[in-house]
Amino acid sequence: MVSGTSAEQAALRAVDGLADELVQFTRALVRIGTVNPPGERYAECADVIARQLDGFGYAVELLPADGLPEHTARYPRLNVVGRRPFSSEGKTLHFNGHYDVVPAGSGWTVDPFAAELRSGRVYGRGTSDQKAGIAASIYAVEALRRAGIALDGAVEQSATPDEESGGFAGVAWLCDRGRIARERQDYVVITEPLDPDRVCIGHRGVYWFEVTTLGQAGHGSMPGLAVNAADLMVRFMHAVETRLRPELARRLTSAPVEPAGARWPTITVNALHAGQELGGWQTPCVPDRCTAVFDRRFLHEEAFDDVRAEVANLLRALAAEDPGFRYQLRDVMRVDPLLGSQDGVLARAAAGAVRSVLGVAAPFIVSPGTYDQKHVVRRAGIHECIAYGPGRLPLAHQADEYIDVADLVAATKVMAVLAMRLLNGRLPSERATPWYT
Ligand SMILES: [Zn+2]
Repeated sequence: MVSGTSAEQAALRAVDGLADELVQFTRALVRIGTVNPPGERYAECADVIARQLDGFGYAVELLPADGLPEHTARYPRLNVVGRRPFSSEGKTLHFNGHYDVVPAGSGWTVDPFAAELRSGRVYGRGTSDQKAGIAASIYAVEALRRAGIALDGAVEQSATPDEESGGFAGVAWLCDRGRIARERQDYVVITEPLDPDRVCIGHRGVYWFEVTTLGQAGHGSMPGLAVNAADLMVRFMHAVETRLRPELARRLTSAPVEPAGARWPTITVNALHAGQELGGWQTPCVPDRCTAVFDRRFLHEEAFDDVRAEVANLLRALAAEDPGFRYQLRDVMRVDPLLGSQDGVLARAAAGAVRSVLGVAAPFIVSPGTYDQKHVVRRAGIHECIAYGPGRLPLAHQADEYIDVADLVAATKVMAVLAMRLLNGRLPSERATPWYT
């Protein structure tokens, strides 16, 4: 450790002392394949986290996302919230992590759910994104308890489902039910994988939309007597490539988005389908419908209405050029960009903790993809919210995802020091060092 009080030094030693347990708990979580969609084994994972919090002295609530259609008997959506009051006065610091993971996908060289520990890394789907983050915040606070360090106020830990599909049964539900609220929490740290030496203060916006091109069915041997909807989609995709993308390439954000390649708006196709089902019987039919889902990420300098109009105008232009170009445009999801302040108490305290523990100046960054911070800020009205976690951003959703044990331990130490400083009042003064320039 580069600097810090003797109590902080003791906290770091305590983290080192429980590093093995921290790794084992992370592995136990990864072995429960909480794949979303559809939401496999959520109850099992929520139960393991709830038991651990209970064992560490938290008052634990298991909150099913009642009232939402995705919360079913087969696929229950369960939120775990633990609260550990240290004194009746003081601030409340809330750590949140999502326990759902995206499907493993292809290309793995290890079993994605075996949580294999090899060469100082734990491999598996959901290691970086972000079961390591859940383990880190739980063990950071446990290290303080074992070191006998008194805290003012309270620490809360929540583990939530469905972040990967929008977070509506998870953090959004907790916010809407008032469990996460401006009156209850002072600071919220979301333990997403944004690298253990960086502090994330926001994210770009998202516009998912579905385009269906409408052709005319016909026999595959006589395409001239039909209108192939896939051909129409090709025309739209070509227009995206040649007309829209060059336009987007001219727009550079002033926000510190990482990786730097994501400082421009992006558009990509997430799904594409026309004609017969793949793997079924062959039928010689010209498809009369082609549907594609597009993923447009936008900057905080772009307004959503303009982003949507740009797509609608492109489609309209194609229809004006050829009346045979018929289509439908459907909005699928909208998330506006979020840009928090790097001057907030929490953001600066987190950067200060990184510098003290790791000896590096932590840049403030903005995530290319959205995450649950939007719900905390917009639904609960808590602006003192950041993302900080042990995982590395480029590993998220990749084959052979892993968490470096050294990163896991480092981030746990940073969280322990951060908790001490936030709750015990050793906060960065106004006009502290400008961390990010
Ligand atoms: Zn995540």
